[in-house]
Amino acid sequence: MEYRRMGKTGLELSVLSYGSWVTFHKQIDEAPADELMSIAYDAGINFFDNAEVYALGESEKLMGRILKNKNWDRTSYTVSSKAFFGWRGKENKPNQTGLSRKHLVEACHEALQRLQLDYLDLFLCHRPDKGVPMEEVVWTMNTLIQQGKILYWGTSEWSAAEIMEAHRVASLLHLIGPSVEQPQYNLLERDKMEAEFTNIFRTVGMGTTIWSPLASGLLSGKYNDGVPEGSRFALEGFGWLKERWMVEDKLQKVRQLAEVANELGTAQSTLAIAWCIKNPDVTTAILGATKKEQLQENLKALDVLPALTPEVMQKIDAIMQTKPRQAEY
Ligand code: NDP
Repeated sequence: MEYRRMGKTGLELSVLSYGSWVTFHKQIDEAPADELMSIAYDAGINFFDNAEVYALGESEKLMGRILKNKNWDRTSYTVSSKAFFGWRGKENKPNQTGLSRKHLVEACHEALQRLQLDYLDLFLCHRPDKGVPMEEVVWTMNTLIQQGKILYWGTSEWSAAEIMEAHRVASLLHLIGPSVEQPQYNLLERDKMEAEFTNIFRTVGMGTTIWSPLASGLLSGKYNDGVPEGSRFALEGFGWLKERWMVEDKLQKVRQLAEVANELGTAQSTLAIAWCIKNPDVTTAILGATKKEQLQENLKALDVLPALTPEVMQKIDAIMQTKPRQAEY
């Protein structure tokens, strides 16, 4: 395993990590979740990602039970939670979502209870909240750090301007600003990581825990000839995701990627994940997996990394046609 410092912080995260969105509670329960987290941990993964909204709190409870059973040394791994969407779904009332001091503090307490932990290593604002002053968000996160309930705070799917505003406020008030952002990043979604955020990586030095490295599985090639039974796009309630990704133009590109993977003698998913972590601005790529074979295949990305020469990267760019014009690397 390779470990990278999270932006300008001292924290070292494994370049591959494991998250529970869609999978925990909805697709897999105790035994497979235990097996997958164990494979991840044994491979050197030291970061597990979660959020209050995943399976409406049940994902954190499941991860918490596994962490308790495993009894791994608490200093050997890191865990995140994210607040914004709440966990009561349609029952959410005022103050049970968003980034107010009330919700952030309560969401932190609830995540700690569900995960059965004394502190969160990372606590992220799952989306920006235009209804809450930035001073309130920064003060609250700073207070949670001072109280020892969280160690680092960050953002997810914030714009560069919003992240810079948080840093401006933190600097003005001598408080601790956000140190990590969680954006989507994969071969089909490159703009934020390679264009919009270029300056914040160089200036305030945000780390990144990137999500959906396989575009929900599309980049593995599994959807090239339709939707396999039991896969994410076949799940009830996930039609919006299928509609978003199963577009002919995208599928054509994914089919062509198979040639590059074949030439390198690797699986397409392994190649797609290796491509993500080739970008040095990625601190960690959060893997999702419902089966151990998937996780094992995805973990091989580290072995494929050295094969991604400039020639191979150019070939991939020519197929995907998604490289933003401002990209610097
Ligand atoms: P991916 O894009 O890697 O998709 C993972 C899914 O693809 C798996 O659950 C599995 O689904 C399928 N898959 C994985 N590996 C393979 C393989 N080798 N072959 C075939 N199919 C495979 O990641 P996620 O979208 O799951 O995102 C990863 C994590 O990022 C989440 O768990 C979460 O922690 C975080 N996240 C954060 C968000 C945010 O807003 N901050 C948003 C979304 C995710 P299946 O078997 O069901 O087909």
